[in-house]
Amino acid sequence: MFQAPQPQSGQGAEGSTRDNPIVLEGEKISDWRSLIAVLVPITTGGNVPADLSINDWLSSLKLATKYNMGPIRTRAIEAITEKNVSWHNGKMRWGLDYHVKSFLIDGVAGIVNSLLDSTLTLSLSMRELEPFSLKTINKLFWIEKAMRSPDSVYHRSSPNPSPSDCANPISIRIKYFSVKCRKGTCGAPMYPDNLACLTCKHRHNEDETLVVTDWHVHHHIQVPLAEITCKQCSKSIYSKNGERYFQCTTCKEKFHINRHFSVTRVYDLTELVEEAFEEEIKLCY
Ligand SMILES: [Zn+2]
Ligand SMILES: [Zn+2]
Repeated sequence: MFQAPQPQSGQGAEGSTRDNPIVLEGEKISDWRSLIAVLVPITTGGNVPADLSINDWLSSLKLATKYNMGPIRTRAIEAITEKNVSWHNGKMRWGLDYHVKSFLIDGVAGIVNSLLDSTLTLSLSMRELEPFSLKTINKLFWIEKAMRSPDSVYHRSSPNPSPSDCANPISIRIKYFSVKCRKGTCGAPMYPDNLACLTCKHRHNEDETLVVTDWHVHHHIQVPLAEITCKQCSKSIYSKNGERYFQCTTCKEKFHINRHFSVTRVYDLTELVEEAFEEEIKLCY
């Protein structure tokens, strides 16, 4: 900060005398007072006052971010997190302005949840969203739509693993129910009767999901039947006691359980927030 270019004044460096103070423009005195209340104890080993308000901490976070004061920034983020604020718009704003990923994700998730919960619609007025850019508002509504009807949105970053991902595969969540027969003339939903595991007979619900790591993209996300494992016995629900083939109950075609089938990926709210706000999250630290 002190290394910034200084205006020529003939009185020596700024800040060297009382008559020639360092002038910092664009901040409120109260922001600096709040920062000093934290800065002094942290740099001298004293105790940070216990009675600092959330606004004091936000002032410190703002200046610490602007002037690159790492330890103060970390401390402010911790203190604000401890206050458990439920003001989602505020959290999203702080996340965006001060590049704090946890605030951004919490805030966005909170706003989207209130959009999704019709009983809460009154708590979110358009006026509250007005201060945000159109781009941000579009992202909020995109996430809401993706949560309400997953098939109605396009995912920009359609996950396509690159060779570097092979060592550390990305896991995705899919629906048991979503497997379709790959025989062109059939295409029927394909799973054992009642989605019951062929080995242990455990039943899976239609909307139940599982996480898979062995998958690839070929027009759609595809997963081998062998990977679609039972919640109870962890064997493939398509393979009775290790049987290598599964027969489509509709067209009777037999498929090796290592063959890949198109499935529907499902996203949770945090994943959608991370996808929509990818750019903003990249700026966080
Ligand atoms: Zn089972
Ligand atoms: Zn079939």
